Amino acid sequence: MSQHVLIAGGGIVGCLTAMELVSRGCQVTIVERNQIASQTSGESSWAGAGIMFPLLPWMYSDHVNTLTSNGAGRYKEICERLFKETGIDPQMLNSGFLLLPSFDRAAALAWCTRYQVTTEEAQASDFGVQSTSGEDALWLPQVNQVRPPCLMHALRTWLEKHKVRLLERTELMPLPAEITKLTSWRTTKGELLEADCFIVTSGAWSFELLKEVASKLQVKPMRGQIVLYKPERNPGAVIYREGFYLVPRRDGYLLAGSTLEDVGFDHSTTDAVREEICAKAEALMPELKGLPIIKHWSGLRPGTPENLPVIGPHPGVENLFLNTGHFRYGLTMGPASASLIAALVCNEQPWTDPAPFSLPQ
Ligand SMILES: Cc1cc2nc3c(=O)[nH]c(=O)nc-3n(C[C@H](O)[C@H](O)[C@H](O)COP(=O)(O)OP(=O)(O)OC[C@H]3O[C@@H](n4cnc5c(N)ncnc54)[C@H](O)[C@@H]3O)c2cc1C
Repeated sequence: MSQHVLIAGGGIVGCLTAMELVSRGCQVTIVERNQIASQTSGESSWAGAGIMFPLLPWMYSDHVNTLTSNGAGRYKEICERLFKETGIDPQMLNSGFLLLPSFDRAAALAWCTRYQVTTEEAQASDFGVQSTSGEDALWLPQVNQVRPPCLMHALRTWLEKHKVRLLERTELMPLPAEITKLTSWRTTKGELLEADCFIVTSGAWSFELLKEVASKLQVKPMRGQIVLYKPERNPGAVIYREGFYLVPRRDGYLLAGSTLEDVGFDHSTTDAVREEICAKAEALMPELKGLPIIKHWSGLRPGTPENLPVIGPHPGVENLFLNTGHFRYGLTMGPASASLIAALVCNEQPWTDPAPFSLPQ
């Protein structure tokens, strides 16, 4: 009989994990306290910008880069499959990435050579944006983006078609301290959900669920806000300058963001941040001044030290696995970490050594 896996949380990490498990013949249930693929109370996946590239990869460890590079590399096949099987286009786009000064050029070039990422010297004016520096920009033509709400919608539809049980508006209770083997998980309504194994993909809320059984798990919410424009012209590439980016979509919308705010589970948007984002966006593209803000939203990232997620079994609780803490790059890392956890759950050879991602003891 096939293994029944219960996934706690229906963001990008939970949905991609479910997809991998279905492909391995598992029976899967996703438990989500809100609604999968919708913008609800602060979840990260809908809110993300969808850039398939870390900001900036040479600032991170090899372990982070292993996950982001592998994850980004899997998206083309996933998006094609989702489109073919659901008719919903996740809008993966090869928009490239323009890196404006100032940045550590030597580190950038060394990293790009090592990871075989093509670079070209470029000017901000080639893309119709303003630079405050006389230095050249760096153009990375291979960088892709995906549109998170479309990706999530396609994933949800794919999972439904493949008979994954989506238990929405169902909230799981934190696990009790004394537990050593998990065979069922209690919901806030008192129902006991049984499965052969359980994977925590609860994003920023993971520590709340696990603090009694994983006191060293360091996952905390880190808010990010994004502002949406619809200019007459857009730069046609992701533009990045000193922690700030513009992301053009295929239909002309332009995202500007984002912030990194340590404000707990407060997922509101603020006027002060909107003004800050608008000022940075207008400095890059003066014609944005005076345009209406189409939308302004926030999401709570699952923040972790060094941006390193935890992917693997809980060493003290049988049948419990974690796939959480992807912080700023859960969309990029998602396919890589989903494949890794699915292999571990199914006792298969994983694509990489899971040791660097194990739960801190
Ligand atoms: C502004 C912003 C920009 C970003 N840009 C990018 C980018 O360009 N590229 C990139 O790779 N990444 C980006 N990210 C990061 C990325 O979005 C996250 O790393 C990723 O979405 C995390 O996915 P997740 O599934 O772990 O978390 P979430 O999407 O938050 O999903 C967790 C789910 O668990 C559910 N849950 C929690 N507790 C319970 C419970 N008790 N019972 C049941 N369900 C529960 C929640 O409701 C939620 O739906 C960005 C994030 C933000 C906020």
